Amino acid sequence: MLTRRAAALILAAAPFAVARAAARPAEPMSVVATFSILADLVRQVGGEAVAVTSLVGPDGDAHGYAPTPADARALAAARVVVVNGLGFEGWLNRLVRSSGTRAKVVTASAGVTPVRAERGHGHGHGHDHGAQDPHAWQDVANVKLYVTAIAAGLAEADAARAGDYARRAGAYVATLDALDREIRAALAAVPRERRRILTTHDAFHYFARAYEVDVVAVRGVSSEAEPSAREIASLIRQIRQGRVPALFMENISDPRSVQRIAAETGARIGGKLYSDALSEAGGPAATYADLMRHNTRTIVAALTQG
Ligand code: ZN
Repeated sequence: MLTRRAAALILAAAPFAVARAAARPAEPMSVVATFSILADLVRQVGGEAVAVTSLVGPDGDAHGYAPTPADARALAAARVVVVNGLGFEGWLNRLVRSSGTRAKVVTASAGVTPVRAERGHGHGHGHDHGAQDPHAWQDVANVKLYVTAIAAGLAEADAARAGDYARRAGAYVATLDALDREIRAALAAVPRERRRILTTHDAFHYFARAYEVDVVAVRGVSSEAEPSAREIASLIRQIRQGRVPALFMENISDPRSVQRIAAETGARIGGKLYSDALSEAGGPAATYADLMRHNTRTIVAALTQG
């Protein structure tokens, strides 16, 4: 039997329940992003109107990713698939075909001026595969272009909410402008000649160019090929000559190569950078903006010590 209090609560809640049902928005649009950084950008632009799935999750390496049957199902159910492009997701076209998806495929980097990969693999080969460097998100200015492409793609698939996507994209671009200024202000504490770092794979070329930091890497842009002994020796020489003040591990890469170089040279490891993936929720890089902040803070701290 209902108590009087419970009955009163039900009566009081009833009009709200009716109002909520009437105003309930349509189901969120299903969107697949290929990796976690893009998934965050889609969430920033889509808000509650989208349900985003990331194929490669936090701390995952998208370069050599092997798609699963669940990925094909996610693609088949999606209305929009957001990809980085610039050769990042070499496994994607086959997955799109095998999934039979009819989703609109949005290439987030479409408006970006690509940088050519300095080297496809290893270090110092001196040969060039002519490949593009896919890591364009490491420059905030490029991510503003990503956001514009994502908003246009979502609006095309879901015209009824085009205004919402444009408004959210505009607000997020303003956040990105502030983030870009924040990164520049933080790096201003480091003299230009000390801004030289070593990372696991060559993911920071766009960052280097945008924010005036020199970056050398143990591996090339693909993260897959092992560096040769000669390449490692060349890096060790540069560090011993004092030309690289700080070494960094990455969240997506095996840290052993950098640890070996640190042990060999006595150089200090300045921490872990988030290159191609976010951290888990609750970690230091759970969103794109936090990823850029964390990386900048970590680099500045290492370069201003000792
Ligand atoms: Zn990478």
